[in-house]
Amino acid sequence: MNTKALIILRDFLDLFLPRTCAACNRALNPWEEEICQLCLMQLPISNYHMDHNNPVAQVFWGRVRLEQASTWFIYMRGSRFQNLLHRLKYEHRPRIGIAMGKNYGYQLKHSGIYEIPHLIIPVPLHPKRQRSRGYNQSEVISRGLSIALEIPVRLDILLRTVHTKTQTAKTRAERYQNVSGKFQVNNHEAIQNKHILLVDDVITTGATIEACAEELLKIEGTRLSVIGVAYASKRS
Ligand SMILES: [Zn+2]
Repeated sequence: MNTKALIILRDFLDLFLPRTCAACNRALNPWEEEICQLCLMQLPISNYHMDHNNPVAQVFWGRVRLEQASTWFIYMRGSRFQNLLHRLKYEHRPRIGIAMGKNYGYQLKHSGIYEIPHLIIPVPLHPKRQRSRGYNQSEVISRGLSIALEIPVRLDILLRTVHTKTQTAKTRAERYQNVSGKFQVNNHEAIQNKHILLVDDVITTGATIEACAEELLKIEGTRLSVIGVAYASKRS
């Protein structure tokens, strides 16, 4: 059976399985979306969007000029919230990404302080990796943010050109070398003088974001904000 047939079969079987919280595995109530109410209440949210000098913003200091940089929550290894990211990436549950994006999007929208950009661009995956995973996790997070913030997602602007090796266990400098120059921007006119929201799943060293940002900021009049769902400091 090919991958597509397997995905269709799995989606069909999902209809008959009880829906469970992607963090704690408890059965979900009908009104809960992928994450249960208790987990949402206990999630270590960062509130970084309330502080311009937050740890995620500091990651990019001296490297790339950003309007706003934040993540929804703070990643802690071994916590049940690690499941959210693992299942989104490796267990084919794109709806987790949409739910996370929506939750954070509504939080930003109602903060009264967040400047809502004009459009969203997810950090692209190489097409080969996207085919094997079935989707780009940053794109589904973007879809959720798009619903909450009521701004469009554009997939035709930032493209990944070369397959990069996995980034595990590399220093920041090595990671940057690994991704620098591997992105290209199409349809320049669509982002001229626009405020762009660049979206990734987890922000750690910021190397991938930096490489994307460099290309996007070459276009006249662009401004850039960055969002991830989780911030993982190198110690976590
Ligand atoms: Zn839960």
